[in-house]
Amino acid sequence: MSESDEKLVNVKIDGREITAPASLSAIQALWHAGYPRIKSVGCLEGVCGSCRVLVRRAGNSEVRTQLGCQTLIEEGMQVMFLVFPRPTHHTYKLEEINSSWEVQTKFHQIFPEASRCRECRGCNSSCPKGIDVMRGVELAAKGRFREAGELFVECVMCDLCLTACPELIAPNHVGLFSRRVTAYFHTRPSNLIRRLEGLQRGKFKVDE
Ligand code: SF4
Ligand code: SF4
Repeated sequence: MSESDEKLVNVKIDGREITAPASLSAIQALWHAGYPRIKSVGCLEGVCGSCRVLVRRAGNSEVRTQLGCQTLIEEGMQVMFLVFPRPTHHTYKLEEINSSWEVQTKFHQIFPEASRCRECRGCNSSCPKGIDVMRGVELAAKGRFREAGELFVECVMCDLCLTACPELIAPNHVGLFSRRVTAYFHTRPSNLIRRLEGLQRGKFKVDE
């Protein structure tokens, strides 16, 4: 099907009225309308978190946070790209943590705000990847870093959870810390351990 045969839809992106084929994503629609490819451009595969958008669909008052490259345009959709400076990251060096016994204490020194989570779920609502962010923060604050890290495997570091948090917690960096510290002090990932345990119990067959 040629582009001229495609169904066209009218959308508003960053306040601009745009008519574009329905098969395009919000970011592609912006380019289709002739806007330069300089804004919020990243991987275009939904993994880098650069193209954060607010989306409101026709007839629905709810505003959702999504990734522009993963959002197909629809008739009457309103899209606003979110550009905000990335805040200063928490700095730490894993090699300065002498043993796994120190990890929890260090975590609370690096992320003192993490234990102030008020369970408002703003981070969960804002996450375009559907991660249970709040649970991840809670697990990390309790020192359950492996479980916390596993929750953040799909995180694209878009910073939307961080921006939504009234306690200025950086949940995505809590997740990153959890994953790093787990890998640093436990070289075998938990899914590998579970697989090996399954093999030992005869749950899986080895094709030699
Ligand atoms: S956890 Fe935070 S940074 Fe990661 S994808 Fe979700 S909103 Fe974005
Ligand atoms: S937005 Fe912040 S305070 Fe609210 S649940 Fe998430 S981490 Fe906790």
